[in-house]
Amino acid sequence: MSLAYIGLGSNLDDPEGHVRQALRELDGLPLCQLVAHSSLYATRPIGPQDQPDFINAVAALETKLSPLALLDQLQGLEQRHRRQRLRHWGPRTLDLDLLLYNQDTIMRPRLRVPHPHMHERAFVLAPLEELVSAAQLEPIVLYQQSLAEWLKHLEQNGIQRLSDPGVTTTATV
Ligand code: ADP
Ligand code: MG
Repeated sequence: MSLAYIGLGSNLDDPEGHVRQALRELDGLPLCQLVAHSSLYATRPIGPQDQPDFINAVAALETKLSPLALLDQLQGLEQRHRRQRLRHWGPRTLDLDLLLYNQDTIMRPRLRVPHPHMHERAFVLAPLEELVSAAQLEPIVLYQQSLAEWLKHLEQNGIQRLSDPGVTTTATV
């Protein structure tokens, strides 16, 4: 069994719905089981501000899939959400990033783990830190620094934890 962390993001008209559905779908992937997920966070977009806020969350997933097989599954899930979106409104609805896979370092054209931008992004690190501490998972060290240390350097004004769900350690999304 391997432990993978997945970053989820959506900014379409029902981003919360997409993220919640994606959490359920992660639990339903073959050879995968959702261990826990963070609260949902409303976050300001990076770059152009003339787009809706994002909803972000992070999930911990136990899996027997290899990293590339897991990436295939994540991309399949993104495609299914994207298709729904294309039919009705337009482009992308769901972004699923493989943040971490055990302690592995992977440098492939299709897959880099740890995700190359995660340490720069409060909308990834804040939910990840919440998840790890609330679900009592092993503390994560990224390039010799804790998540809290990385977060100290990052602007967190645009990151708002939504009050309702809290960390869920069972697969009830
Ligand atoms: P971003 O997530 O950077 O906004 P995309 O989701 O469109 O952009 O990027 C997807 C591309 O990134 C895919 O081609 C995928 O193969 C590649 N990729 C490399 N490393 C990872 C990773 N750790 N998780 C997800 N996709 C990755
Ligand atoms: Mg992505």
